[in-house]
Amino acid sequence: MTVKVRFAPSPTGFLHIGNIRTALITWLFARNNNGHYLLRIDDTDKERSREECVDDIRESLTWLGMDWDAFARQRDRQADYDKRIAQLKADGRLYPCYETEEELALNRKVLLNRGLPPIYDRAALKLTDEQKAKFEVEGRTPHWRFKLNHTPIIWDDMIRGHAEFQGGDLSDPVLIREDGSPLYHLCSVIDDIDFGITHVVRGEDHVTNTATHVQMFEALGAKPPTFAHLPLLSDKEGGKLSKRLGALSIRDLREQEGIEPMAICSLLARLGTSQPIEAIADIKTLSNTFSFSHFSRSTPKFDSDEILRLNAKLVHDMDFAMAKPKLEKMGLKDIDETFWNVVRPNLERVTDIKDWWQVAKGPVTPVIADKGFISEALTMLPPEPWTSETWQAWTNALKEKTGRKGKELFMPLRQALTGMDHGPEMPVLLPLIGPEKTKERLKAA
Ligand code: GLU
Repeated sequence: MTVKVRFAPSPTGFLHIGNIRTALITWLFARNNNGHYLLRIDDTDKERSREECVDDIRESLTWLGMDWDAFARQRDRQADYDKRIAQLKADGRLYPCYETEEELALNRKVLLNRGLPPIYDRAALKLTDEQKAKFEVEGRTPHWRFKLNHTPIIWDDMIRGHAEFQGGDLSDPVLIREDGSPLYHLCSVIDDIDFGITHVVRGEDHVTNTATHVQMFEALGAKPPTFAHLPLLSDKEGGKLSKRLGALSIRDLREQEGIEPMAICSLLARLGTSQPIEAIADIKTLSNTFSFSHFSRSTPKFDSDEILRLNAKLVHDMDFAMAKPKLEKMGLKDIDETFWNVVRPNLERVTDIKDWWQVAKGPVTPVIADKGFISEALTMLPPEPWTSETWQAWTNALKEKTGRKGKELFMPLRQALTGMDHGPEMPVLLPLIGPEKTKERLKAA
């Protein structure tokens, strides 16, 4: 059996960490199984769907290194839905309902007040043809509900294990709106059947939906796929992540300079699993090591600082061949391998290198706190050629001469040479700045 999966976002907002995690885990599972990955746009809600969000979905997936084998949009599939709808109506599994929103809300309230679950009472099933005709004359058009069988619904979830619902505990879901348009639930099940989806991976907020979907698959004569419901992420404090979604859209991360896509993938692939979260530079390594057996049912905590930590680690480990195209894109094509290797342990993002390039090549504005000491230092510069030993020789001599030590000795030199009070190790930076620029900067005193 070829594994066939889909990632099915609704283009009603920009992709955020939560849905990208679903996209990634689904993708890793597909690639691990030499499977097929469908990108499906769930755009049945015509009012809320936006083209810029469809673009964002494609761009974000591509940026993160995920490709797809097929692409589909629900809005293009109305004819396929119509056929199945006709079948379900003929079989009596879809029935027309005429209640207004207000009537339904009131019914729910009455049930809740009586301490009962707000399950739809199926009043519409009892309507006679005359009553229905009367509603139609009044100008009411029906919405349509799926008639659930009141039997146990059972599946073996790849993450949750044994899952069981009773059909009688659930409301018959509305599958067709008053304007005749089908809802996500029905479209999704029909798509999953037509595209031969073997595994459905999604957030656990869909578990109850899945119970009704299982019966829809069966009503349409299909075997339900295997399901995996991922626990939703919480924030650091265990609260709902959605509160801070603004800050967590992939688009925001993409637009921030120097965030490595693999920092995001490294975190999201392993969060909530028994595998270690580590900086992994190649998405293939993640897919090769992927298995649903590593996933736990508990709520993983998402901390965006982890992305920055992994980002820094990826940069520290990045070899020059990998960094080169990124540097060129930043317009820094003169940076060579030596410079990269010296500076990279100090970078949290590749883009930070701009500052260090500036420090080495100038111009910099030296900070001169102690003119006397700096002029003294100028006279004591060691002979050329300069090596990684030069700094030590220079500062040792200065220590002896002036009696200064520690911060008092090093900081004025760093400030004079770089204009900053932190940065790469001076022993390595000094030869990069070189004798000529060093003298120039010290002379500014
Ligand atoms: N469009 C649905 C969502 O974004 C898809 C859920 C599913 O995977 O079936 O929640």
